Amino acid sequence: MTRVCVVGAGAAGLCAARHLLVTPGVIQVDVLEQSGALGGTWVYTENVGYDDFGLPIHTSMYKSLRTNLPKEIMGFPDFPVPESEKSYLPAKDMLAFLQLYADRNGVTKHIKFRQHVQLIIPKAGPKNELWDVTYKDLGTGVSVTSEYDYVFVCNGHYNTPFIPNIPGLKKFEGDVMHSHDYRVPELFTGKRVLVIGAGPSGMDIAFEITRVTTKVILSHHLKEKPKSEFPDNLVLKPDVVKLDGKKATFADGTEDEVDVVFLSTGYLYNFPFLHESCDIVVEDNCVEPLYKHLVNIHHPTMCFIGVPYYVCAFSMFDLQVRYFVRSMTGVFKLPSSKEMIQHWEEEKVERAARGYTKRQAHMMGPDQERYYASLASEANTDNLPSVITKIREESSLRFLHNIQSYRQDVYKIIDDDTYEIISNGKKE
Ligand code: FAD
Repeated sequence: MTRVCVVGAGAAGLCAARHLLVTPGVIQVDVLEQSGALGGTWVYTENVGYDDFGLPIHTSMYKSLRTNLPKEIMGFPDFPVPESEKSYLPAKDMLAFLQLYADRNGVTKHIKFRQHVQLIIPKAGPKNELWDVTYKDLGTGVSVTSEYDYVFVCNGHYNTPFIPNIPGLKKFEGDVMHSHDYRVPELFTGKRVLVIGAGPSGMDIAFEITRVTTKVILSHHLKEKPKSEFPDNLVLKPDVVKLDGKKATFADGTEDEVDVVFLSTGYLYNFPFLHESCDIVVEDNCVEPLYKHLVNIHHPTMCFIGVPYYVCAFSMFDLQVRYFVRSMTGVFKLPSSKEMIQHWEEEKVERAARGYTKRQAHMMGPDQERYYASLASEANTDNLPSVITKIREESSLRFLHNIQSYRQDVYKIIDDDTYEIISNGKKE
């Protein structure tokens, strides 16, 4: 009889619980969630810094956020986002969708809210290795330790800011802020803002704050310069090479005075609750050793849902969960530790040969389809339809080419391979 601990009630944790609750032999599913709500990233709060219990605010959601992918590829394979006119939804609609998903699948009652996971340690059991999970009830302040057979780590990876090592940043004489703490543009009224990083959040926020700033400089190192039309008070620049006082120097030798350095430089994987005996190391944003970016190779009764990025997130969570659950129930057998290590080492070499850096260890993008297929075939479970990766590619291109209007496009899935887009009232 199997007892499972799921850390976190974001989309990944909800998906894990949804499958575990119908898995034969699983008698206990505890979803431990430190906040008072489910939904993780999608829960908006005006607060930044620390919450009432002294924990860092988890969400990086800003008030105006609308999804950067169409809803047609943001649902779960067995639970699509409900039909509506628009493809790109506000964050509150995604949160409502996750609430519906949890309620309809009987997950909500298994979530223990305000329970902060502090420590996870493997220990020898009579037959198999077991897990001691220590968590603190934030209401009473009391910590307890419970024993589990399996642990699903679903704590999210868009909450610990990555601060780049830019010479002069620490002594910058204006304000420095990370996108994790961005909520509304008014903070920047009348300011000259240097936005560093042109990922979806960087581009979105740079564009949004032009309404109130005197000038926005968007520093990026995209291979292809975005073709979007930007407002007159937004200029694109290459990488920042140094900051001095309030002066920024760029890779092309130009200089500018700015009041704010706004870092939209991404996030760090962070598992502060894993004891070192869990044998997971995070270095330069590479979490290892994981088999298929998912299974803790040295302790294969622990998995990590949601580590890969540039993916169709909720669909991938579902496939990863189905894969791991099937290994738990014996539908297939995971390779030996030695084989899994060999696989991971070979994958690293192969990625490096294709020019991926260590920091990009879990980046999927063009590798998505191959990754999904490898999980599905090994676990003998349904693969994700290729139409979702096709739409992802298409919408990402449209994002780069027209940040101002790409969210007006409406997508329709025709079948597992094909889709159509209505753009400017015309079918494409
Ligand atoms: P999270 O949503 O972060 O959930 C993790 C949960 O774990 C949280 O509830 C947290 O409180 C809890 N937790 C953490 N540590 C502990 C602990 N020690 N004890 C107990 N509980 C803990 N993806 C898309 O597909 N489309 C988009 O348009 C999109 N837009 C995004 C916009 C922003 C600004 C950000 C930051 C991300 C966006 N994403 C988007 C990515 C999004 O984060 C993922 O799609 C997905 O929601 C992540 O789910 P998760 O469950 O892995 O993590």
